[in-house]
Amino acid sequence: MNKIRIGIVGYGNIGRGVEAAIKQNEDCELAGVFTRRDPASVKISTEGAKVYAYDELASKKDDIDVCIICGGSATDLPKQTPEIAKLFNVIDSFDTHARIPEHFANVDAAAKESGHVGIISVGWDPGLFSLNRLYGNAILPQGKDYTFWGRGVSQGHSDAIRRVEGVLDARQYTVPVESAVEAVRNGENPDLTTRQKHTRECFVVAEEGADLARIESEIKNMPNYFADYDTTVTFITQEELDKNHKGIPHGGFVIRSGETGDGTNKHIIEYRLKLDSNPEFTSSVLVAYARAAKRLADEGACGCKTVFDIAPAYLSPKSGEELRAHLL
Ligand code: NDP
Repeated sequence: MNKIRIGIVGYGNIGRGVEAAIKQNEDCELAGVFTRRDPASVKISTEGAKVYAYDELASKKDDIDVCIICGGSATDLPKQTPEIAKLFNVIDSFDTHARIPEHFANVDAAAKESGHVGIISVGWDPGLFSLNRLYGNAILPQGKDYTFWGRGVSQGHSDAIRRVEGVLDARQYTVPVESAVEAVRNGENPDLTTRQKHTRECFVVAEEGADLARIESEIKNMPNYFADYDTTVTFITQEELDKNHKGIPHGGFVIRSGETGDGTNKHIIEYRLKLDSNPEFTSSVLVAYARAAKRLADEGACGCKTVFDIAPAYLSPKSGEELRAHLL
């Protein structure tokens, strides 16, 4: 069997997670890691595999089947994914929901021009949660959607706290409001405000002598990030943060609450994820979709796609026959 040769572009949390996921998939192998930093400074864990400079990517055209682009959504992916789609089949985890249409159009143009496949916004949200929202809507057209996130670390909110003057380090947890989740599960179809759905817990390490009251007030009143939520701020030491808040857990629920017939019969569809490591899980989803990209490219497909466009069987290394016998 020819293995699927995967290139990892960018070696942060997701890059490391993709490397780990490749090791768990026998039909995949790591063709190389590509970084914008000095390759000698980036240590990887796969024996025999190499780290290359980002600029060397073009010279590996014949050695890679799919590139998984592991940069950040804010500035890396909008540039890198279309750029690399000119040379390779690509997958990314772009998660800025409002900008997905624009990103799709850019990757689609590049991939169509070069005859490659691009699958964007792969992961859990967007990704597996999006699929479950689509299934819920298609099956129960009379109903309501609910997405709850957490309990989990939001990197974006943790970064925002670190930018407050006097803050040395921080971890922010997004927590679903239990009573709201229960009301939805009971089929009550509540109208919930932002504040009623999630709370935000912040663990903050402050500089010695810093004005803690000011820091707490600045965090709680930060527009877009915290002002619309009930937020708690707890000051802790760096040692406590390193010991108790080191992991990157996350997860959540997608719920569709609907009715059929004359409305007397109610139905709840619930999909739940509880993740010890957000990046390792996201990376496992990316590798499954890399398999799909290779298959679609082998069939002559090209252009940009999202999880909505990929038939489930393309994600599995098993044959159609095996899938029908064991998983149907
Ligand atoms: P990181 O910040 O860890 O890595 C992003 C990039 O930063 C890397 O590709 C790397 O590029 C560079 N980098 C990493 N470490 C260092 C370092 N020590 N010094 C300098 N540069 C470094 O981001 P994540 O991997 O955690 O996340 C990437 C994106 O994944 C997020 O922006 C998020 O949008 C998305 N995501 C999507 C999810 C989904 O469900 N769809 C879920 C989780 C995340 P280089 O090697 O070239 O320097």
